[in-house]
Amino acid sequence: MSVEIIHKNKVWLSSPHMGGSEQSFVAEAFSQNWIAPLGPNVDGFENDLELFLGNNSKVALLSSGTAAIHLGLNLLGVSKGDDVICQSFTFSASANPIYYVGANPIFVDSEKDTWNLCPILLEKCILERIQLGKKPKAIIAVHLYGMPYKVDLITAISEKYDIPVLEDSAEALGSMFNGVNCGTFGDISILSFNGNKIITTSGGGALITKNLDIKYRAVHLATQARDSAPHYQHSQIGYNYRMSNVLAGIGRGQMEVLPQRVKGRRRNYEIYAKHLSNIDSIEFLDEPKGYFSNRWLTCILTKSFELREEIRNALDAENIESRPLWKPMHMQPVFNDAITYDNGVSEDLFNRGICLPSGTNLPTEDLLRTVEIIKKTVK
Ligand SMILES: *Cc1c(COP(=O)(O)O)cnc(C)c1O
Repeated sequence: MSVEIIHKNKVWLSSPHMGGSEQSFVAEAFSQNWIAPLGPNVDGFENDLELFLGNNSKVALLSSGTAAIHLGLNLLGVSKGDDVICQSFTFSASANPIYYVGANPIFVDSEKDTWNLCPILLEKCILERIQLGKKPKAIIAVHLYGMPYKVDLITAISEKYDIPVLEDSAEALGSMFNGVNCGTFGDISILSFNGNKIITTSGGGALITKNLDIKYRAVHLATQARDSAPHYQHSQIGYNYRMSNVLAGIGRGQMEVLPQRVKGRRRNYEIYAKHLSNIDSIEFLDEPKGYFSNRWLTCILTKSFELREEIRNALDAENIESRPLWKPMHMQPVFNDAITYDNGVSEDLFNRGICLPSGTNLPTEDLLRTVEIIKKTVK
């Protein structure tokens, strides 16, 4: 007899949720032999995203969000020896590409209203770096867990000092700031369709720009930077970063259910908040006025690291997956040497915060079971 039978059902943090028509788009790719990284699904998915995002967006589909950040830095002209400001409170994929292009990250901490890039600390950092004779080349700002960063303030600082923003919207497809979609605010923006994101192509990403020429340059770089000639001619170093037509088929199917997925993630948040927000030792991150989060993952802040750990262990014992919030980049061994503008906010969030199961395919009973275990632990 297997142990699985005794164990409660595994409750995942965020698992893929297919809508139904993904397989028919993929089957179409097979029947027409469009298996290469080009074809009607790539065009179709790009078109779907451009319509959804609006705001004059042009989309280049790529193999991952990380690849999109790498190409984005390239296209913003970041190169060896440059400095790039990056939100410290994020997943490492936001920062790793800074090293791919030979640049140096400068990590800037978060503010409490959105948990994202602190505008005050950002401006302080920029002023100091300019004073030291080296203006940063770009700012990587992140809408973490789907909550928009302070788009108005960050954009104003970017314009004031003429430093472009690379908007990491990997977790924020479907989120909005003052009614405008996240993924359209950066000089270059990126999305991810990794398996844990709000919609997925199993793996994939996108680079978004308002400039058609930038889109073509992204596609060119992503397909080995081949010049137009009958033979293989190259004047630039290229990459193999284009999304395949097969995976783009999954993306087209997922686009049909994206609004439902946003509703579903937000509903999860509502259920957790309804049952847990009256507990003194637990806090939720409210949406400031004008902010609309896709609530990719529901996160709670506990009153202490110890309570956070008690909750995490109690959930784990019930086969329920949860995860501490992202460990800030300035605390990561791999980024030990990086310059940091730190105000203690992200370290505190990391110590006290936890992500709860947030998939849109989770039955309500699983959410309520999670709620009950947390309530019991807090008592
Ligand atoms: C997922 C993620 C990425 C990277 O996307 P991949 O498609 O997994 O390469 C980048 N930034 C953030 C904030 C992410 O959550």
